[in-house]
Amino acid sequence: RESRATPPNRGSTTTILDKFRLDGKVAVVTGANRGLGRSIATALAEAGACVGLAARSVASLETQAATLAEAGYLHATARCDVTDPESIQAAVVSIEEDLGPIDIWVNNAGITYWGPTLDADPQAGWHHVLDTNAGGVFNCSQVVGRKMAERGAGTIVNVGSISGLIVNKPQWQAAYNASKAAVHHLTRSLAVELAPAGVRVNALAPGYIATDMVSDMFETPEYKEEWIDRVPLRRAADPAEISSAAVFLASDAASFMTGSVLVVDGGYTLT
Ligand code: NDP
Repeated sequence: RESRATPPNRGSTTTILDKFRLDGKVAVVTGANRGLGRSIATALAEAGACVGLAARSVASLETQAATLAEAGYLHATARCDVTDPESIQAAVVSIEEDLGPIDIWVNNAGITYWGPTLDADPQAGWHHVLDTNAGGVFNCSQVVGRKMAERGAGTIVNVGSISGLIVNKPQWQAAYNASKAAVHHLTRSLAVELAPAGVRVNALAPGYIATDMVSDMFETPEYKEEWIDRVPLRRAADPAEISSAAVFLASDAASFMTGSVLVVDGGYTLT
């Protein structure tokens, strides 16, 4: 049997794998200091992009920046609160000065709120969640989308959630669910608006990922077990298993995808 290492087309200049590479691209991730954002930033760098790490506090990016520097990856850091358009604008200017025009923007930053809707404080249990998760995607997409549209190229990847597709059990995440449904539909709307300008917009809908966000909610080991039991693959995702999908959506391998919501959930939404 012929070895996979010596395919018949060996010697051709480009292969399908090249389409997944992001060499020469500038990619920015919000909430890049921890959890999924940190993992996506690393994956984008490994795929060849120069990465702009954006976070509410630049100090929180120190270890991530040091890790990228040690590996020889070109990167920049910037303060960026996604609820504050001025800080987004300043982050974009600073990253573009350091790395060049932004080709890829990943709207990753997000928060959750956990509790019965009827008891929720409207500010913490609704406005803050909607302003951060959906408002943050709007704010960043507006600033970066204008630049991409002017240049006639670029791609935005939004981090949605299975919670934007189904009402997760146990309930008590109404604001989060609504905010992620808004992210999905904002993705579709922006995709249609920006397609004529050559800009693609897609979303990821991850299932459970082992990050602070869910560990905060798994109050007891039994509770965690009950939750994980509902995942056909019987585990939470490692952040790297979601980051690879983010790289795919950002790359030319997804050049005919726009307005898609890519579910990466270990089968959770099937049952
Ligand atoms: P974490 O709680 O580990 O990280 C959240 C990140 O968002 C942090 O970097 C945080 O910054 C940042 N952030 C929060 N608010 C703001 C803001 N106003 N401006 C800028 N950054 C902000 O969560 P995850 O890594 O798990 O979550 C990342 C994304 O993935 C979120 O959008 C989340 O909804 C989504 N997701 C997560 C799932 C999971 O199971 N974990 C499942 C599906 C989707 P700081 O450190 O300053 O607080």
